[in-house]
Amino acid sequence: MPPSRTPHKILRSQPTIEGAGVHLSRVFGFNEVPLCDPFLLLDDFRSDYPDHYLKGFPWHPHRGIETITYVLTGDVEHGDSLGNQGIIGSGDVQWMTAGSGIIHQEMPKGDIDGRMHGFQLWANLPAREKMMTPRYRDLSSAQIPVVNLSGGITVKVISGEVAGVKGPVADIVIEPEYLDVTVPAGEVFRHATKPNHTVFAYVIAGQGVFGEDSDAAADADNGTLVLFEDGGEMVAAAGDTGARFLLISGKPLGEPVAWQGPIVMNTQAELQVAFEEYRQGTFIKHSG
Ligand code: MN
Repeated sequence: MPPSRTPHKILRSQPTIEGAGVHLSRVFGFNEVPLCDPFLLLDDFRSDYPDHYLKGFPWHPHRGIETITYVLTGDVEHGDSLGNQGIIGSGDVQWMTAGSGIIHQEMPKGDIDGRMHGFQLWANLPAREKMMTPRYRDLSSAQIPVVNLSGGITVKVISGEVAGVKGPVADIVIEPEYLDVTVPAGEVFRHATKPNHTVFAYVIAGQGVFGEDSDAAADADNGTLVLFEDGGEMVAAAGDTGARFLLISGKPLGEPVAWQGPIVMNTQAELQVAFEEYRQGTFIKHSG
């Protein structure tokens, strides 16, 4: 068995403004490419102030990527060029594969107390899938299995497998794993990862120590991402207040990235085509 994974890099989320004026925390994005390949961006939009999120993300296009929205608290209203329309509510996930192109809007509404807590991850598509037919998967909280492990550890399995329980999202090229892991104080979580895959943990509550070798282990708390070196298991020991983190992994693509705004292709020429088509009204290749 390969040695367990040691932390490679620590990232702290940074305040930024996106969409029509949404205040959020960016964990990684454009400036970090290709550090987290096949993932492009992770935004943390947890806020208790409606002024920070109500302006939302009005109609905009995506092509060449997948956007994965995970809501902890509050509602996000959405609608798109495929005719989908609805609400991503507390505990729900929307796994949207833009492929050849969708035009959508995402409007955070919060809950009755004004809280809007969630995350958006962007996963890249390989060159051969960038123009695939767009696909939406709306997963309600009830469709996402929760696995109870010894020591009171719980894992919500959005994608991937824990203790023989598989998450509902499958058939994605990068073989992603997306777990929401809660580890009580003093307990240790161990999880086998696929060799050569990119693996990171983003801490969303409490504090923990990541990595097994005490010389190389990293301390991380809420708002901190730990990116691991290649290896076998990932190991996380929760601190005094416990730890909750998103554990995300995927197969790196190793392809050139040409990225402008909400569109990510392999070449500048492909980007120019996308924006020209958007201007001319020929952007949407598959609808309804
Ligand atoms: Mn979007």
